[in-house]
Amino acid sequence: DKKLHIVGGGMAGSEAAWQAANMGVDVVIHEMRPEVETFAHQTGNLAEMVCSNSFRSDDDEQNAVGLLHWEMRAANGLIMAMADRHRLPAGGALAVDRDPFSESVTKTLLDHPKVTVEHGEITELPDDGYWIIATGPLTSSALGAAIQAETGSERLAFFDAIAPIVYADTIDMNVAWLQSRYDKGETEEEQKAYLNCPMTKDQYEAFIDALLAADKTEFHEGETAGYFDGCLPIEVMAERGRETLRHGPMKPVGLTNAHKPDEKAYAVVQLRRDNALGTLYNIVGFQTKMKYGAQTDVFRMIPGLENASFARLGGIHRNTFLNSPTLLDDQMRLKSKPNIRFAGQVTGVEGYVESAAMGLLAGRLAAAEILGKPLDTAPQDSAMGALIHHITGGAEAKTFQPMNVNFGLFRPVDGLKGGRRGRKDRYKAYTDRAKSVFQEWLDGQS
Ligand code: FAD
Repeated sequence: DKKLHIVGGGMAGSEAAWQAANMGVDVVIHEMRPEVETFAHQTGNLAEMVCSNSFRSDDDEQNAVGLLHWEMRAANGLIMAMADRHRLPAGGALAVDRDPFSESVTKTLLDHPKVTVEHGEITELPDDGYWIIATGPLTSSALGAAIQAETGSERLAFFDAIAPIVYADTIDMNVAWLQSRYDKGETEEEQKAYLNCPMTKDQYEAFIDALLAADKTEFHEGETAGYFDGCLPIEVMAERGRETLRHGPMKPVGLTNAHKPDEKAYAVVQLRRDNALGTLYNIVGFQTKMKYGAQTDVFRMIPGLENASFARLGGIHRNTFLNSPTLLDDQMRLKSKPNIRFAGQVTGVEGYVESAAMGLLAGRLAAAEILGKPLDTAPQDSAMGALIHHITGGAEAKTFQPMNVNFGLFRPVDGLKGGRRGRKDRYKAYTDRAKSVFQEWLDGQS
């Protein structure tokens, strides 16, 4: 059977179907809505936008999401084409008229001679045939259980607990220092795996006040089932007692301030390396439901992070996602069942655009395999490639959490100066390089 079966007709599944069908492969989309609902989707349409109507920045020279837009347009992406068709005025952002958008995606796919849509829930991982699972953050519980039975329960999460991620080059190293607690680790690299930001008593008290006062987002109705104690938001910890954080993630023990060895910090914020490149650090234990604006204000109170730029801010959401660094190969196949690919948010990317991009890639890789002309995954220096390399290799498997596309995932371009002024040049160099390698990858397929 040379058909490609795609489970989930969301952002990723719709794009995967379009790409594979255009390469000449017969595609069946299995979508459980409208028979089986999720708490967030409202319609039975394919590619429904469940919350905001924004595809974020459309700037393909200075923004990594905008670059991903560019790459998907270059690859004849359906999601981008329909977003462009139903674009709403929104400055530099790509805002979309949501209902006409998803209606057009649905109609275009139904009209495609190579695509059929079957409504109904898939509850098992099939043993044969070619499959792409793109069931998203709200994967049905029966299928979630089947995936866990295959991967082990600790390798499929039902919530994300995202600590904010900071660009390493925006941390003030005259204040912060590198050291693991009690210098733990075999190698010098391990003994210096953490970045530490010290706080005095006054700084700690002001920080707690700001945390308690900050604006927070609420959980959606139906979202909290299974919410557990191991990933409490920092503001909830602070509400339990002003000292709770100082005895938890901010405990000052086992550390000596390299800049002021005689001064004992009252509390310490630790950051841990988040990728192999060492360009990103996450703030350990700082998952939060604070609103984004409040997060930047509060986190820049941390000594050493006054000028920090964030690759992503923190959050806690209902979100089903795989530990892709251990489970998937760079072809997006489940290592233990290579007839099955995963795509979209369930692979541990985050957002409409990233999910659609992973669908585009999975659709092309699967179709190429079915046609007997295997295709290399997207080049690492493209936005699509940086993302797939992160989730299937570059990210730390032990602490893996969903990721947005951002320039911190890109390999450095040599010979560019750092600092704020240099940043514009650097981003332009990243996007120029990305477009050129991505176009080459596409040209190799035609
Ligand atoms: P989806 O678009 O969710 O598609 C998955 C599809 O699979 C769904 O249609 C679902 O019905 C179907 N499905 C699930 N299980 C089965 C099954 N067993 N059998 C058959 N079909 C199945 N991203 C943003 O960029 N901006 C936002 O504002 C935003 N807000 C969000 C708010 C909420 C409450 C949630 C849950 C997510 C939000 N996201 C947001 C993330 C968003 O869901 C993803 O960006 C995007 O929709 C993921 O695309 P996807 O194709 O992976 O999953």
